[in-house]
Amino acid sequence: MLKFRPMKLASPPRLSWTRALANAITDPQELIALLRLDPHIAAETQQALKLFPLKVTRSFVARMEPGDPTDPLLRQVLPINAELESHSDFQTDPLNEKHANKLPGLLHKYHGRVLLLVTGACGINCRFCFRRNFAYSENNPGQIGWEEVFAYLAADPTIEEVIFSGGDPLLAPDNHLQFLHDHISQIKHIRRLRIHSRMPIVLPERIDQNLLKWLASSRLDVILVTHCNHANEIDQHVAHAMHALKAINVTLLNQTVLLHGVNDTATDLINLSKALFKIGILPYYLHMLDKVAGCAHFAVNEADAKQLACQLAKRLPGYLVPKLVKEVAGYPAKVPIVIEPI
Ligand SMILES: *Cc1c(COP(=O)(O)O)cnc(C)c1O
Ligand code: SF4
Repeated sequence: MLKFRPMKLASPPRLSWTRALANAITDPQELIALLRLDPHIAAETQQALKLFPLKVTRSFVARMEPGDPTDPLLRQVLPINAELESHSDFQTDPLNEKHANKLPGLLHKYHGRVLLLVTGACGINCRFCFRRNFAYSENNPGQIGWEEVFAYLAADPTIEEVIFSGGDPLLAPDNHLQFLHDHISQIKHIRRLRIHSRMPIVLPERIDQNLLKWLASSRLDVILVTHCNHANEIDQHVAHAMHALKAINVTLLNQTVLLHGVNDTATDLINLSKALFKIGILPYYLHMLDKVAGCAHFAVNEADAKQLACQLAKRLPGYLVPKLVKEVAGYPAKVPIVIEPI
């Protein structure tokens, strides 16, 4: 017998990305009403909401299943009481990033590549993110600070790649991104620009003509690393955005965070890899959750993660198997989690 599935919500009208962003949902009651969930759930969001606000775009909500409180997309954004529980090994700054800051706005931890904190904001507030505890206001370089960053990059010929990160760098307006890009591309030893962003998923309108135009004219090789955790996050608008990026020769990769109750089954991860490939993206990393305060309920233990990785390896072509990694404070690369054949 067919299980009854309510119809998905109609897609919201297509607006410019800045208007669509301003129109994001921040009130749990509105989200719960839109998804036709039990209104009592709203009361259970109030405490966690004070720790980290709710923020989700309407187009992302349109990809959720109405009436399903366990929807994997909803779980990533809905504040819940479990966030209030404290666990001794889940801390506010587990990677000690405060101390890897060479200059405001710049993290240089790994050989050959640096990370620029372009903006502290995001198009969505993911409940499992370290950003919920990070003081970004201290990390805004301002115009003079960026000049220092460019001087740092110019002075170190080992740096071949600059990564725009954040927050979400694609929350910054194009004129700011172009300002950064134009200075960076004048430095001869820099060959690649990498953008780490969840915006192409949560707000695919962001990949507009303006962005495509300046990216296409870059002398740098451009890589976009999207952040997609579940196949349901991909819809026709996301596919369209990726198609446009591929057409200007941007290399498309994806990173996923392994999240309990969201994507911690082999079926979820296999479907995700296949759905990514379908729209031109190769899976890159499958990250273990950083041990951030308020996120313990999303954690998957390493033994279970290895089991999942084994199942992916057995059921997918090698190029669709993401590398399972964790971050270890102080280590100069992501640390691969090695799976033994089981
Ligand atoms: C993850 C990360 C990078 C990029 O690492 P890759 O393994 O090249 O993807 C660079 N710098 C920092 C600080 C990072 O955390
Ligand atoms: S940095 Fe990425 S994971 Fe964190 S809230 Fe922003 S989009 Fe979500």
